[in-house]
Order: sequence, then structure tokens, then C-alpha cells
Amino acid sequence: MTDCIERPMETFDVAIVGAGPAGSSCAAFCALDGLRALVLEREKFPREKVCGDCLNPSSWGVLRRLGIADRARQLPHAILSTVEFIAIGGQKVIVGLPSGEESLRAIKRSLFDALVMSRARDLGAQIHEETTVTALTAAANGAGWQIETNQGPTFAARVLVGADGRNSTVARLCNLLPRPARERVALQSHIPLPAGFGSRVVLQFLREGYSGQAPVNNDELNLCLVSKPSDISALRRWAEQCFSLPHDHSWHTITPLTRIALSPAHDKLFMVGDAARVVEPFTGEGIYYALRSGELAAQAIVKAVRGSYDVDPLKEYAQAHAAMYRGRLWVNGLARAAVLSPRIASSLIHAARVQPMLRSLTAKIVSPCSGGL
Ligand SMILES: Cc1cc2nc3c(=O)[nH]c(=O)nc-3n(C[C@H](O)[C@H](O)[C@H](O)COP(=O)(O)OP(=O)(O)OC[C@H]3O[C@@H](n4cnc5c(N)ncnc54)[C@H](O)[C@@H]3O)c2cc1C
Repeated sequence: MTDCIERPMETFDVAIVGAGPAGSSCAAFCALDGLRALVLEREKFPREKVCGDCLNPSSWGVLRRLGIADRARQLPHAILSTVEFIAIGGQKVIVGLPSGEESLRAIKRSLFDALVMSRARDLGAQIHEETTVTALTAAANGAGWQIETNQGPTFAARVLVGADGRNSTVARLCNLLPRPARERVALQSHIPLPAGFGSRVVLQFLREGYSGQAPVNNDELNLCLVSKPSDISALRRWAEQCFSLPHDHSWHTITPLTRIALSPAHDKLFMVGDAARVVEPFTGEGIYYALRSGELAAQAIVKAVRGSYDVDPLKEYAQAHAAMYRGRLWVNGLARAAVLSPRIASSLIHAARVQPMLRSLTAKIVSPCSGGL
């Protein structure tokens, strides 16, 4: 008999698609403020993803407000003391990184993302893993969203958040995503840490593209390769030879590396993290932008759901989102121009006079955001 009784569908205040740093941060802050938050995540955690694993020091402010800064520091990690830029011909420029509280740490994404997601769960967010969002319907009366997944039940929520990364399904289903340009592709893997590697982050330019290398603990090296699709096999062969990897070594892969930015705020829809704007991986800032945009979106969502505001929360979020990137996008543009042409980047490394510029650019990237957040 009970099988025949239709249960009324629970309406969540907010449904968040994706449990990367952006989605989990947004869910945790929403839950912290008492909202009924739902998170739908395609993968089963812990999972790795294509990333250099470097946590920009700006992230610590958000992690503190989430109450997990100490736990994040306790995760297995490596503290990175220098960045080594290596030109195509092998010439090097070594730039020192800040130490102490402001140090650059590398933490495997499997560990970091699982920590932020578990914080959201502990704060009361309902999290469904292995649940892929497949269809969205905006309720005709403006009451919110119906969300369909590969798992069967339909979910309902008043507000929707697209936190599902650079190839956002939410953006695609809402007709916001432009046709992706397959301009570059990235491969990533964790490999045994070569003896004597030290505490360097290496950014190595090669004819085919570039490679980023950073230890993530005492035993493993994060190895990333970035190039045009036509050059990626050659770059993979270089890595196999350089790091003595078997030909069938398995890699995680992602594309595109560049995509136009989307407006982050729409009617009952917020876009956070990579789903809204993708930055050049070279600068190692994406996780910070993801965490912080999740926090900013949560502040706006709480006001929108409660209906208590003077300034339109959508407008407020869009402005705060733009302000977060202001003053930093030129560094990103410069980094992108350099990595799009490894030959030019290499000749810059040769030129002694640009070495102070590399130092100040590195300092700009790893310094906490000027807003102190
Ligand atoms: C080569 C490379 C190196 C990088 N290195 C660094 C670095 O060192 N430091 C740094 O700060 N940033 C780095 N980045 C950027 C960083 O990885 C991203 O900015 C960051 O992961 C963005 O977080 P997010 O939460 O927005 O998205 P993601 O981390 O991509 O999370 C999105 C989540 O959504 C889920 N999802 C997707 N589709 C669906 C769906 N339909 N239904 C349900 N769930 C779905 C996915 O499974 C995923 O868990 C790098 C990027 C690349 C490509």
C-alpha cells in the first residue's frame, strides 16, 4: 500500500550542481546560514581532477570562515619554496615564494575537495554523489527549478547554482554556454616523486607546450601537461621519457583551457567557480576563485531566499564577482599570452631584464587578494 502513496516533493532553498570547491563552499555557507541546501555531484568522492593542486594563499581566509583551515593544513601536503621557470633551451629563472602563513601549499584535490564537501555535509547540506544533472525546468510561476538526474527522482529548489566546472551542464541546459573552442588540452597525473626534486614548483616551457610540476607530499609529484590537441601526444612522450613512465601510463584529461566568461547572476540562477569564469591554470588561482565565488553567491542567495535586502542580491553578487577578479585579470592575460607561445615565453626567460618582472608577477599571483579576503 505504502508504495502507492506519492510523497510530496521536498523543495530545497538552493540546489547546487557540482561539489568542487565552488559548489561545496557555496553549500557550506548556505547551510551555515540555515538554508536547506542540496548538492548534486556526478562523481563518487574522493576523486582526483585535472589540477596543479597548488592552493593560493588567498584561500586561507575562506577556509577559516568555513572553519576548516586547521584541518586543511593537516592534510598531507607539500610546502613550495620556489618557482622555477625553465625555457625551451633549459635556461632557468628561480623565484622565491613567501614562507610561513602565506606559503604556497600543494594538496591533492582528492583530499582537499573531500574535506570541503564533508564540511558542507556536516553543516547540514544534503549531498548526493554519483548523481548527474541531466535536465532543468524553470517553474512557470517563477517558483524555482525542477532538476532531473540520472538517478531517477526529480528535485525541486527555489534557487539553482551552477558549480559544475568549465563544461557546465547547467550553463549548457540554460543556453548560456558558447560553443567550446578546443584550443588547448591538459593532461594530469600523480607520479612517484623523483629523488632530490625538492620543494620547487617547476613551469617548464617546451616546443609542444608547457609542463607544470609540483610535489604534493613526500612521495608524489603532480605532473601537468598543456598543449594544443595536435601536440599533446608529443608532449606525453616527452613526459614518459623525462619521468620514466610506461607508455600506458594513465592520465586525467580536460579541455578547453580558455572559455569566455559568463554573467554570474541570472534570475534564480547563480554561476560560481569555473562554471562562471575560467582562469589560466598557469597562475594557480582557480581554487581560490571557486571557494570565494561560492561564498559570495551564498551571501546573495541567503538574502534572495529570505527576501530581506535593500540592494538586489543578483546585482550585488555580479558586482562582488567582478570585483574579485579586478586588478588580477591582467596577470592572467599575460600568463595566457606567454603559455600560448612557449617560444616567446622562453625568450623572455633568457632576457635578464625581465627577471625582476617574473619576480613581481609571481609575488602578485601568490600574494593574498588586496581586499584581504
Ligand atoms: C591543467 C590545470 C591546472 C590547474 N592548476 C591549478 C592550481 O594549481 N591551482 C588552482 O588554484 N587552480 C588550478 N587549476 C584550476 C582549478 O582546477 C579550477 O579552477 C577549479 O577546480 C574550479 O573549481 P570548481 O568547483 O569551479 O569546478 P570543479 O573543480 O571542476 O568541480 C566541478 C564539479 O562538478 C561536477 N559536475 C560536472 N558536471 C556535473 C553534472 N552534470 N551533474 C553533477 N555534477 C557535475 C564534477 O564532477 C566536479 O566535481 C588548474 C586547471 C587546469 C586545467
